[in-house]
Amino acid sequence: MSTAQRTEAVHVRAPGKINLYLGVGLPHDDGYHALATVFQAVSLYEDVTAYPADGFSLEVHGDVDLDEVPTDDRNLAMRAAKLLAQATGVTAGVHLVIRKGVPVAGGMGGGSADAAAALVACDALWGTDLGAHRLHELAARLGADVPFALHGGTAIGAGRGDDLTPALARGRFDWVLIMSAQGLSTPEIYGRLDTMRAHGEALADDPQPSLDVPVAVLQALRAGDAAALAPVMFNDLERAALDGRPDLEHALADGVRLGALSGIISGSGPTVALLCGGPEAARAVQQELQAAGHTAVHVHGPVAGARIVV
Ligand code: ATP
Repeated sequence: MSTAQRTEAVHVRAPGKINLYLGVGLPHDDGYHALATVFQAVSLYEDVTAYPADGFSLEVHGDVDLDEVPTDDRNLAMRAAKLLAQATGVTAGVHLVIRKGVPVAGGMGGGSADAAAALVACDALWGTDLGAHRLHELAARLGADVPFALHGGTAIGAGRGDDLTPALARGRFDWVLIMSAQGLSTPEIYGRLDTMRAHGEALADDPQPSLDVPVAVLQALRAGDAAALAPVMFNDLERAALDGRPDLEHALADGVRLGALSGIISGSGPTVALLCGGPEAARAVQQELQAAGHTAVHVHGPVAGARIVV
């Protein structure tokens, strides 16, 4: 164990993500589905501050609905801190303060961002200095989306989504997110997709011919071309997320009607991610959606993964 423990708190910021492409294969024995996805980290953040302490404790704040966020060992940030302590033999504790900016159960990986931020913050607080490779290994043990929250940027995820390859993405992409008051459970949405497929309901434009990310998606990213990306965005979970949620169908339709190039459900939903032609177009779409009664925010990507804020 290193003796270079800090006495000052460490503040880390980690981004939420959008899956701008998400192909879902069959479930494995461990319950995870094979995925081919493209993540983009966007400018909606979780802030995690790690304070020196003897034991382990956690508090959660933020403007998003916090009712479903546990503050005990079920919290992914707490699990991250304890996993790091166990892996490194650290005997110190930590008090974690989370300020959530990413909607809870929104399909944007907020809990995963907290876990990634807690790993980076505790690694600095305790002076364990693990380095990117070992942090990535611990992140993958915490959840399939946690490695990407460490990494940030734009990346292709294979396997469970945690086998990452950076994707070249030029410039910036402007997104408008429509938030939903009612979250969706990720396991439930995957289960619903399996059921729909078993009944042949999800087969109209499914299954994907292969689980590879289409070349057109990667080309559009490489060119920084939102207009080319818009028609090739895709989410296999979308039909399952929209089932019984006409509000989300309306949100998608409103976004496109009000000027977005295209819209997609992010991950397992319910957040709607609308791709816009640029910052001005996005601001206009966001304002019109707000005026129409939606909760909409303008973000951009790609942004960096979990980083210490100085
Ligand atoms: P996923 O990464 O599975 O797509 P999501 O982005 O839809 O998830 P999250 O907000 O990350 O949703 O968390 C989903 C559930 O995980 C919550 O409903 C909550 O019960 C639990 N949870 C555990 N730790 C956290 C955390 N730090 N923040 C939010 N939720 C957490």
